[in-house]
Amino acid sequence: MRKDIKSMYLDELGDMLGELGEPKYRSLQIFKWLHEGVNFFDEMTNIPRNLRQKLSEYCYISNAAIEKKLISSYDDTRKYLFSFRDGECVESVLMKYRHGYTSCISTQVGCKMGCTFCATGKSGFSRNLTASEMISQLQTEEKDNDIRISNIVLMGMGEPLDNFDNVVRFLRLVSDENGMNIGMRHISLSTCGIVPRIYELADLKLQLTLSVSLHAPNDEIRSRTMPINRKYNIASLLDACRYYCRQTGRRISFEYAMIDGVNDSNAAAAELGRRLKGMLAHVNLIPVNTVKGTGYRKSKKDRIESFIRVLAKSGITATVRRTLGSDINASCGQLRRSTVEQT
Ligand code: SAH
Ligand code: SF4
Repeated sequence: MRKDIKSMYLDELGDMLGELGEPKYRSLQIFKWLHEGVNFFDEMTNIPRNLRQKLSEYCYISNAAIEKKLISSYDDTRKYLFSFRDGECVESVLMKYRHGYTSCISTQVGCKMGCTFCATGKSGFSRNLTASEMISQLQTEEKDNDIRISNIVLMGMGEPLDNFDNVVRFLRLVSDENGMNIGMRHISLSTCGIVPRIYELADLKLQLTLSVSLHAPNDEIRSRTMPINRKYNIASLLDACRYYCRQTGRRISFEYAMIDGVNDSNAAAAELGRRLKGMLAHVNLIPVNTVKGTGYRKSKKDRIESFIRVLAKSGITATVRRTLGSDINASCGQLRRSTVEQT
């Protein structure tokens, strides 16, 4: 089995070179090439040919190949379906904002969490992505558009905290100054609320932004739409969030998909306001994307406005997430699903 060289930390690369009887100083040169996005060892022009040969026998360079690409005619948002060496596919979305490019990447092929409104959750789970496969999604987007990505959101397919070790490895690699050098403050991680992993992440004291997919003001509604809530209820989740804020000094953002008639009443807003009161929090309201087979519809505009007014009474600020690429099903899970269903 060849080794996944792009997932290695610099010191691990050095250790491997040592085992191969090669000088360790080469590790930095190789690391830089890998994170510049080369796909072949022969592109590493300052590495001797015999070492390139050896590396290609012991290791492989992971790559995200473009299977499909959709470009929104509204706002230039680009949605990719990528495939990896075993043929598994994930989605990623590249968005352009005034301050630069943001990429939304996947962390797993599918997801085990089964949220009822989510296209990824409906397709089941195949496997975790490696750190290099997460990096490769960014690299392919940069090359395909001749751009630099400045912000990353882990909000594509999969539950990042269910793939904790690979995700932390990715975070450290992508923020490495010899690598893509994207600072933690430019990265957001979104979770459905795997409580013990939130504590673990908080203790790492990384400066990233945590987004928590709350989507309901109480356990009754949340357990109906998000099975994870039966294991870790809202009270335990919010305790973990408070711990995260204390440990990192970072504000948490709560995601709240507005579903018509399910979680969007004024009473729900008041209850949500009571629960979040006093927290360093911001609420992102997202009109739910309609996914075939769920029966959910997005809340009406005036309902959302009224929800925001009620929340404001508890001192909680909420904004409606700008939806990009709505003509290309830019919310993740939908493209893969439609492709898999066609074949
Ligand atoms: N598993 C993680 C991250 C991936 S999902 C999580 O659940 O947080 C990214 C975000 O999209 C989450 O906030 C998720 O709740 C939301 N989402 C999933 N399906 C959606 C839909 N149909 N409409 C709106 N938001 C959705
Ligand atoms: Fe998984 Fe997130 Fe979708 Fe839930 S919303 S099924 S946790 S990807």
